[in-house]
Amino acid sequence: MHTVEIAGLRKVYGKFHALKGIDLKLEPGLFGLLGPNGAGKTTLMQIVCTLLDFDAGQVLVHGLDLRKEGHLIRGLLGYLPQHFNLPTQFTGKEFLHYAASMKGLSDRRERQQQVERVLQEVNLQDEANKRVKGYSGGMKRRLGIAQALLGDPKLIIVDEPTAGLDPAERIRFRNLIARLSAERTILLSTHIVSDIEASCDQAAVLLRGELKFQGSLQELAAKAEGLVYEAIVP
Ligand code: ATP
Repeated sequence: MHTVEIAGLRKVYGKFHALKGIDLKLEPGLFGLLGPNGAGKTTLMQIVCTLLDFDAGQVLVHGLDLRKEGHLIRGLLGYLPQHFNLPTQFTGKEFLHYAASMKGLSDRRERQQQVERVLQEVNLQDEANKRVKGYSGGMKRRLGIAQALLGDPKLIIVDEPTAGLDPAERIRFRNLIARLSAERTILLSTHIVSDIEASCDQAAVLLRGELKFQGSLQELAAKAEGLVYEAIVP
């Protein structure tokens, strides 16, 4: 069974066709979703996260049909949106406790264990009691990943997480994603191929709502689809 199986997925905003019949299969590991601005990456991710309705097709997550069992799927995945507003007056730890409560982790002891675990996973233990407003961009992004890891979901969806990070933070973030993807399925969108080069198991290229390619990055490079490649490398 695939972690995510998408067939004939269509999404229309008014008269604008944002997804024009997408077929996609995700297996454990890192899956890189590539494509320029407006390609439909966020739309696709929000649909899989059960945040956005769709017009046609089928989406299965861990074998569950999103149309019928969306309420079950919600608890089985973690999501870091592209524009993630953190409450800057909270400390990292306070925010994670809040996020854990929102995810339904009501048992105090279990919540504490989860928060300690995710802080360790993203290497933020030493900053956990500092206010988020003092965090660097990279630390905020790692805190965002930490909240997605609460509850230990086996599917993590991350929308353009490296935008605006400096080179050192970007490398650190790539290493984190590589580590996390060893035990999970991570669907990550980016414009920057080097963000996923080292650890990407599968990639797809989305252009104007159509899937132009799905396979390994090596296959993508070998295909030498100049136009496609140019569209994703800034
Ligand atoms: P980016 O890299 O800029 O985030 P993207 O690949 O994530 O782009 P989407 O945000 O999914 O692309 O947008 C796909 C297309 O759908 C774009 O042309 C966008 O303008 C359009 N779109 C997105 N949301 C809406 C909406 N709520 N109403 C109308 N059009 C929308």
